Amino acid sequence: MGQIAYWKTTKLPEAEAQPEHWVDNEMQVRLPAIAENEQLARMLVSAFITPLNPTLLELADVKTAVSEAVTNAVIHGYPEPEQKGYIDILCSCHERRVRIEIRDQGIGIEDIEQAMVPMYTTKPEMERSGMGFAFMQELMDELQVESKPGEGVTIVMTKEIGKEEAYE
Ligand code: ATP
Ligand code: MG
Repeated sequence: MGQIAYWKTTKLPEAEAQPEHWVDNEMQVRLPAIAENEQLARMLVSAFITPLNPTLLELADVKTAVSEAVTNAVIHGYPEPEQKGYIDILCSCHERRVRIEIRDQGIGIEDIEQAMVPMYTTKPEMERSGMGFAFMQELMDELQVESKPGEGVTIVMTKEIGKEEAYE
């Protein structure tokens, strides 16, 4: 990973209580919550992790997890067309570990535990299958979901890249 500049003097604002939480690189992007930005979000996150030399499978896993999270924000977070909002994407990496946070300020989730049950969906009429959270959980190492009804959803996913290979 010698090609990318190290700037270990930066830490993410939410990591303030953990001074050991230094990062090698980070990216913060705010995108309008529109369907077109699912593709853009996938590309941005995949560009961010490319210097970590992910395998094609790891890259596909991360892109799919990001798509699921962004699609959820667009469809569920801001369901009314007149209700405009943003999606914030915060990525950071430290050595091989990537952390991806995706936030919206939409309607939020009343019961997170129920929402995360595979095949649970509040939009069966839109032919959603209720598998988004299950995929995110499966494809990434960790998934945390936080929400307050009316204040949006924050999801944090982490994944170690290149687990199988020696890290250079
Ligand atoms: P699929 O992802 O398979 O198309 P889905 O989006 O309904 O279907 P999940 O992604 O697992 O399934 O989400 C489950 C439920 O959690 C959703 O139906 C919705 O009620 C709620 N939810 C998920 N993300 C958000 C969000 N960002 N804002 C508000 N509600 C959400
Ligand atoms: Mg979904």
